[in-house]
Amino acid sequence: NKYVKRTSPTSLVIGKGFVPNMNVPGKVFANSTLEKLLLDEASEIASGSTGSFIPSLAQVANVAALPGIVGESIAMPDVHSGYGFAIGNVAAFDMDNPSSIVSPGGVGFDINCGVRMLRTNLKEEDVRPVQEQLAQNLFDHVPVGVGSKSLIGARTYSDIDQILNYGIDWALREGYAWPEDKELCEEQGRIVKADANHVSQKAKGRGMSQLGTLGAGNHYAEVQVVDEVFDATSAAVLGLEKGTVCMMIHSGSRGLGHQIASETVTKMESLQEQMGIQVNDRQLVCARIQSKEGEEYLSAMNAAANFAYANRSIMTFLARQAFAKTFNATPDDLDMNLVYDVSHNIAKEEMHLLNGEVRRLLVHRKGATRAFGPFHPLIPTAYQTIGQPALVGGTMGTASYVLLGTDEGMKTAFGSTCHGAGRALSRSKSRAMIDSMDVAERLREANVSARVASSHLLAEEAPQSYKDVFEVVQTCEEAKLSRAAVRMKPVAVAKG
Ligand code: 5GP
Ligand code: MN
Ligand code: MN
Repeated sequence: NKYVKRTSPTSLVIGKGFVPNMNVPGKVFANSTLEKLLLDEASEIASGSTGSFIPSLAQVANVAALPGIVGESIAMPDVHSGYGFAIGNVAAFDMDNPSSIVSPGGVGFDINCGVRMLRTNLKEEDVRPVQEQLAQNLFDHVPVGVGSKSLIGARTYSDIDQILNYGIDWALREGYAWPEDKELCEEQGRIVKADANHVSQKAKGRGMSQLGTLGAGNHYAEVQVVDEVFDATSAAVLGLEKGTVCMMIHSGSRGLGHQIASETVTKMESLQEQMGIQVNDRQLVCARIQSKEGEEYLSAMNAAANFAYANRSIMTFLARQAFAKTFNATPDDLDMNLVYDVSHNIAKEEMHLLNGEVRRLLVHRKGATRAFGPFHPLIPTAYQTIGQPALVGGTMGTASYVLLGTDEGMKTAFGSTCHGAGRALSRSKSRAMIDSMDVAERLREANVSARVASSHLLAEEAPQSYKDVFEVVQTCEEAKLSRAAVRMKPVAVAKG
């Protein structure tokens, strides 16, 4: 295609004209291997086997046609097709431009889906002899799978309102979180501009029964061991060294966030014409930031983000118990401190330097992680010198990473990096092509203890269904979006 040009070994530009009405160009961070996967995705979609999404490149270009977008519509190396916006798309809108929009498809249905990482003072040799018990204890303690029910947490609608307004501060007050957890969460685990009054009763009801549950699909609670240290100084700041046992919890706002997103889509769709906003794809439904609908969505989105912080805090409490039981020691004795907690599905008001001017932007990151450079005032004091940590899950059979934000990434991607390996095969194609028993066998060979709530999950979530996380991380590094601090290998995983 004459509009898509490779501009460096790690980036492609999508020129204006690829789709109608583009206000800015598109930019895709991809090396030649990842570019090929995007072409495969386009042909899989053209063959009609995958629902109603359109290919990532066209989605990135359609986002570039939204009113008020600045810079470029940017895709991370793990990009793949999603609802409206591709998963892995970063798009910033000028908040002082009255035509700028906010779009629920640019945040994702799982509002504030994110990753939390905990470390321990255990080493690989401590965990190997008990990894099966640990996997089972995690699976028993943390409710996983479709329809799993909350064990602890909110009892009344008034609890839910407080969770929506106060996030981790609610969990702290109730004794589910440790005081030192808070500083190590993005936004300190609580977004102030949240309003429970803009969340429907139905969404609150779904939140009530699902608080402290992991969910299904690619959400996971995973014990890992650090197996490669790329920067020993930064790793030490993070409290990690080769052999350290740690864990990742990947989950978001469950049915509560999903309910908010779908109600918003329905409402905005019905008002789209009246609001006079032209979009290339009806899944890009949106509202002006400076409108009642826009403001209400943002305060409900922030409330769902707070719910997700409380949700991950409760699961941290449960995971700490699972470790305590396995090792017959308190979580305190095991030094089960947070490394960090970061979102990869959210829109945030941020100040950025654009063409030499400081601008107030609403940055949508959907399936992309914020990774601000060193000494940015919004990153924790402890991490000032190393940059914001981005927690990147690969797959349950390969590897995961802690990346760190860079100054360069601030300039080229509004301080963002990848959020995972990114799917290479759709769920339906994975189910058709991959045998779950075969995946189970391969996990055993890789010495990973897995517990899953449903039988087809292993096929859907097989390592082969994802891109090669090494290619993704290497592209982020070469493009200087972020740099790798450590890599972890999986030891025990619980999934829905
Ligand atoms: P998403 O947020 O788009 O739902 O998923 C984020 C990323 O998590 C995926 O792109 C994938 O690379 C990663 N992932 C999915 N399942 C697992 C798992 O079981 N373990 C690890 N470590 N990563 C996973
Ligand atoms: Mn999610
Ligand atoms: Mn996620």
